[in-house]
Amino acid sequence: MPDSETPSVPKRIAVIGGGASGLAAAHRLIELSNEESTRFEVTLFEASDTVGGVAGTRRIGDYLMETGPDMFITNQPAALNLCQRIGLSDELIPTETEHRGSLVLRKGKPVRVPEGFMLISPAKVWPVLTSRIFSPLGKLRMGLEYLLPRKKEQTDETLAGFVKRRFGSEAFDRLIQPLVGGIYTADPDKLSLQATLPRFLEMEQKHRSLIIASRKQAAARESGSENDGSGARYGLFTAPRNGISVLFNRLLKVVREGAVVRLGEAVTSVSKQRTGGFSITSNSGATDEFDGVVVALPAFHSAKTLEPSVTDRDETSLADSMRKISELLNEIEYSSAAVVVSGHQLSDIEHPLDAFGLVIPAIENRKVLAISFTSRKFPGRAPKGRILLRTFVGGAMQPEMLDQSDDEITKTVLAELKSILGVNGEPDFTEVCRYERAMPQYHLGHCERVARIRELVAKIEGLELAGNAFSGVGIPDCISSGESAAERLAEQLVQA
Ligand SMILES: Cc1cc2nc3c(=O)[nH]c(=O)nc-3n(C[C@H](O)[C@H](O)[C@H](O)COP(=O)(O)OP(=O)(O)OC[C@H]3O[C@@H](n4cnc5c(N)ncnc54)[C@H](O)[C@@H]3O)c2cc1C
Repeated sequence: MPDSETPSVPKRIAVIGGGASGLAAAHRLIELSNEESTRFEVTLFEASDTVGGVAGTRRIGDYLMETGPDMFITNQPAALNLCQRIGLSDELIPTETEHRGSLVLRKGKPVRVPEGFMLISPAKVWPVLTSRIFSPLGKLRMGLEYLLPRKKEQTDETLAGFVKRRFGSEAFDRLIQPLVGGIYTADPDKLSLQATLPRFLEMEQKHRSLIIASRKQAAARESGSENDGSGARYGLFTAPRNGISVLFNRLLKVVREGAVVRLGEAVTSVSKQRTGGFSITSNSGATDEFDGVVVALPAFHSAKTLEPSVTDRDETSLADSMRKISELLNEIEYSSAAVVVSGHQLSDIEHPLDAFGLVIPAIENRKVLAISFTSRKFPGRAPKGRILLRTFVGGAMQPEMLDQSDDEITKTVLAELKSILGVNGEPDFTEVCRYERAMPQYHLGHCERVARIRELVAKIEGLELAGNAFSGVGIPDCISSGESAAERLAEQLVQA
């Protein structure tokens, strides 16, 4: 048989972690295995007995409850593309049109976020001028942004620093802190602008004023005839009709057709052999050999699995690189949060809940960070006449909340719901979902740290990292991170 027709020995690849990042990596490797001349034998290790990581959908009576993420953005194409490839497009639904918009708490009262406000920057002037959120002086200071010069040096700065420099402290304290802080359950005084919202930095560099840039973008979008309501661009979010877990369960099904899936097996160590390849040991006690590995875990778990074992700790450059990668991964901080999911009779609630949710500025000194009116966003999440709420507590701003018991957290949340929205009566159910160290904090210096990690990983043939610790926490970011890691690894192994 001529060489070109000799079937190549399949390359064995381990993917560690069955969240969005790891599942996407495993799926992409299977796709590539079918395309490339080199075949891959993929094994997915997942510590728990189910996939999806922080995502989880459950039914409680006639409620459809999301414990973690409940939707994803569609203007980053990775998640939509993946849904198309696994035959899920027809099951995706857009957000409801009726209650689009969001609220922010001001002096204890929910107030509508001005129409066209895009996370940091207003695209429309009139809604800001007429908003009750800001004082006349605060509005004047925001308007000054229009005239401010761009920053000369292109150094990174904190998100809070950037917003205060452009729009003033009131805009930050009253609206932007809770809007942005909510995405990362973070303290924007520590977040790196470059790592979290680099597009606003680019907008400043390109257009000088963010107001000018946002208005141009909004005009371009409107000419595409999209009217998204206030706050975020709600027409851009989607979810599977029957909940976010549908995506992960479908992915699992497809991955199982082309890979070995080892659920309930936590990897305890990934050790690079000097002869090439990796030895991977799991808590089952088994050790297996692989040609390549994608580690798709929270950074502190990746750090632990990659740490060279005591016997490996000589000063070879390989052990040294693994140790440095592990140290740098451990430097990425995480915040913990809890989501209290509760079902209520609409008739028990005084507020009309005419929005998708409410964010709460730190200066309001409340004990909750945000409340999502979940069943206002998508149909089928609550029975008729009922509403499903998800209240976020903890995060980097209120870590002490997580020290409370589930009962205490529930009591606190119900008291806050009553005080803020007039939620009376007994809820149909309440459930506390805890997320310990679930949200990476992209603090100042994050981009440099990630670049250093990537540089070191690139020196270790056959190793790739993926996950929400690096370049984005949203589901599309994680899918993209997993798929890119798979592609880089496939390229290396095909060339080897
Ligand atoms: C409460 C909450 C709400 C969110 N809401 C949204 C939203 O609405 N939209 C959105 O786009 N994003 C949202 N996010 C962010 C997004 O869901 C996450 O960033 C993303 O799902 C993380 O995926 P991942 O695969 O990187 O990590 P994870 O989901 O953490 O997955 C890692 C997996 O690795 C496994 N694991 C850990 N250690 C080991 C080991 N040693 N061996 C094997 N397996 C191991 C874990 O069991 C887990 O399954 C939310 C996040 C949270 C916490």
